[in-house]
Amino acid sequence: MDKKEILSKFSTDPERYYKVKLFENEGFMRKSCTICKRFYWTIDENRINCPDHSDDTYSFIGNPPTKKRFDYTQAWKEVESFFQKNGHTSVSRYPVVCRWRDDLYFTIASIVDFQRVMGSKVVFEFPANPLVVPQTSLRFKDLENVGVTGRHFSSFCMIGQHSIPNSQGYWKDECIDLDYRLVTEQFGVDKKEVVFVEDVWEGGGSFGSSLEFFVKGLELGNAVFTEFQGDLSNYRTLDQQIIDMGAGLERFAWITMGTPTAYDCCFGPITGNLIEQTGINTDSELLVRYFTEIAKNFERFSDLSEVRKNAIKSAGLSNEQMDKIITPIEGIYLIIDHIRTLIFAISDGALPSNVGGGYNLRIMLRRIISTMNRLSLKFDINDMIDMQIDYLNDTYPELEETREDVKTIIAIEADRYENSKSRMQKIVSKLNQKPTVDDLIRLYESDGVTPDYLKEMKVISDIPSTFYSKLSELHQSKKQKEQDQLSLEGLPETELLYYADDPKEFDAKVLKSFDQYVVLDRTSFYARGGGQEPDHGTIEGFDVVDVSKHGNIVLHELKEGAIKEGDTVSCVVDSKRRGDITKNHTSTHILNSSSRSILGSWVWQHSAFKEEDHARLDITHHSALTDDEIVKIENLANSVVKKNMSVTIENFDRGTAEQKYGFKIYQGGIVPVKSVRIVSIEDFDIEACGGTHVKKTGEIKLVKITRTKRIQDGVVRIEFVSGDTALDYAKQHDVDLARESAELKDKAKLKETRHEQKQELKEKLPILVENITACKIGTNNVDETIVIMTEPGKPNFCSAMSEQYDEFFHISLGEKLIEKDPWMVYCGVFEDGDRIRAIIYSGEQVGKDKKAGDIAKTVSEVLGGAGGGTQRFAQGGGKDKSKKNDAIEKAKTMVLGV
Ligand SMILES: [Zn+2]
Ligand SMILES: [Zn+2]
Repeated sequence: MDKKEILSKFSTDPERYYKVKLFENEGFMRKSCTICKRFYWTIDENRINCPDHSDDTYSFIGNPPTKKRFDYTQAWKEVESFFQKNGHTSVSRYPVVCRWRDDLYFTIASIVDFQRVMGSKVVFEFPANPLVVPQTSLRFKDLENVGVTGRHFSSFCMIGQHSIPNSQGYWKDECIDLDYRLVTEQFGVDKKEVVFVEDVWEGGGSFGSSLEFFVKGLELGNAVFTEFQGDLSNYRTLDQQIIDMGAGLERFAWITMGTPTAYDCCFGPITGNLIEQTGINTDSELLVRYFTEIAKNFERFSDLSEVRKNAIKSAGLSNEQMDKIITPIEGIYLIIDHIRTLIFAISDGALPSNVGGGYNLRIMLRRIISTMNRLSLKFDINDMIDMQIDYLNDTYPELEETREDVKTIIAIEADRYENSKSRMQKIVSKLNQKPTVDDLIRLYESDGVTPDYLKEMKVISDIPSTFYSKLSELHQSKKQKEQDQLSLEGLPETELLYYADDPKEFDAKVLKSFDQYVVLDRTSFYARGGGQEPDHGTIEGFDVVDVSKHGNIVLHELKEGAIKEGDTVSCVVDSKRRGDITKNHTSTHILNSSSRSILGSWVWQHSAFKEEDHARLDITHHSALTDDEIVKIENLANSVVKKNMSVTIENFDRGTAEQKYGFKIYQGGIVPVKSVRIVSIEDFDIEACGGTHVKKTGEIKLVKITRTKRIQDGVVRIEFVSGDTALDYAKQHDVDLARESAELKDKAKLKETRHEQKQELKEKLPILVENITACKIGTNNVDETIVIMTEPGKPNFCSAMSEQYDEFFHISLGEKLIEKDPWMVYCGVFEDGDRIRAIIYSGEQVGKDKKAGDIAKTVSEVLGGAGGGTQRFAQGGGKDKSKKNDAIEKAKTMVLGV
């Protein structure tokens, strides 16, 4: 059964599903739309169509149906005070980054605040009943509509009115009664204008009938009576019925203001301020005409450019009016909307990146910049952030705390985009045809080229309406849990001793034993979980190599050995291993909070791993860590260790813990249990965690960061050690440092001596050359290491093989000699590491006959190697150090022929 079918099923029994007391008391009539046949309820006898198909659709633009005018902030105050007057608790918004659900990146509706997934079941947890919440909700599926349609936002405030029908809460009758009175009494809309349309709403594994309420064609809210669970064709009644009324605060403001678009009244003074900065001449009559047409056409066409085209025609706008007024104003709307969403998301700890939910944030910031460039708008982004936070302060005072952090992140991200532009330009210049939607996706996915940039560069004129929804689908949360394959059914849950007295030696009864696995009635072996590796030890003398948790049952894996079911066995936990892992775990918490306070509020634990001798913490951060940051984080962590803070563990009801400590407790991810174990290191760090911890931070002794690395966009890995491992590491590190610096010193010294020698030689060389060339055969020998044989007009020979001469010397000397004497052959032999090298120069005259290359080849053979070169210069060598003299003798024979 699909949604349509279930709607028609519910609509055949309106008494059961839709009729509420209010309809009877106020004399509402049930009618069917003459166009779409849908059923709706109204007290207006003359109404013949549903709100989507009435003539009055969007007639509130320019003509609001209320006496009072409320902007965004004021509208919330009205809603809040109405519900408070009527027995509701007003709850602060939950984070827009949905840390308590692993199937969502962002909070998309108010009801999500109270949904907790347990296994395959969604349960509802309300901090109060009934309640109302101004929940900022993020939706990225139809980004292309934002700024254009007058009513689409990338984030909006969903007024959530929620109730569980019991002694405190209520069900359908009271819900609709309240919503009707909110619209008519509190906002002063004429009763005749309120229309309720029959509908069905499903989501999160549950569904129910719903009544959408409209005024002048604008849907203000949807009251869902959640009462079924399962899919639409196979469902059963929920144990707990839920009132899930969601209304758009933006729309409540808009209907009282009657501005051309919702953007004109939902950002306070900011819209007006930006329009003023650009000097656009806004003709309000023209805007009313145009945006009313946009609203009407939006329902008629599925393609946005068609909607726009038809609205331009119906409103009778010229091309010039479009270019000078509408296009820039759409850009301004888009920029304001996107900035507001970025503020909420970054404040709640999300970072723009190329993975997960960060994707949407990056693309939005790039849209802002491209739009400003395309329309030559020169807004200061920091000013816009300030204006928004100032304006939102009444409803969302918490944004104040992260004001500067938001600016920091956006500035870094904007810089990155600027820096990637030349690369993007190159890619764009290679495009030779208009890109398809798939091309656009590929261009963004692999090259980071946004469609807005292509629009800015005039490669495309419009962004296809399916682009953002396709991209959004690609980046849905894909986390899936592995299914347990083991048959542990029927076993009672294991008593976890490590959460109680935590004995390292204990007896337990074997409940099940199969292959190498054992299930006990109770255990002190910590099972792998929360990034903490399992305990090792022995059961009845057999080595325990792994411990894992399956539901509430702990499974021990033995290296070998068979244990009988029903036996009582004695167990020993390796307490040294456990102690080391425990220190690493508490250190993870300390490093996490240290990183946040050194780097910024956007730092969250991304994941963690704690083994006996090493551990790592991955945090969300925009750039690689600098040496200075690493030192500061480590120092702060060690100051916490030195202060010997108490680590306390308390269990709370999940809702209570969330309200008391906020969502920062979910550093290690979601907690799928009703009772939350809160681990507090005094006020320094408070997290929900199921791991083992030291009692006092002093036990950790020392935390040492061994390495950090940016492992993906927006995530930095910190590898570290703690306890004795850290002390050893530090000791070894000192030794290494000392050795390194000694080595460096030696090297520097060597370099210096060689430099001096070279200097000396340089000065000595000309004299040497003079002496050599002036020598006669027999009278030879300039010094004891240089041997020369000369005879005018005949081949001459000079060789050198002293240990104090290096490559530089031989080359310098050889070159100079053959310059002076074209009959000279020079042969230098020297040691270089474990090799003997030879350098040969042949003067211009002698070289015709005695080529340097040939001599080098022969000499190298003598040395047990190979060599060669040109007529003038050649080199070679070998490994046989005992043949140095032979090599020179050979060369001499080749030249002088003796
Ligand atoms: Zn209709
Ligand atoms: Zn933990």
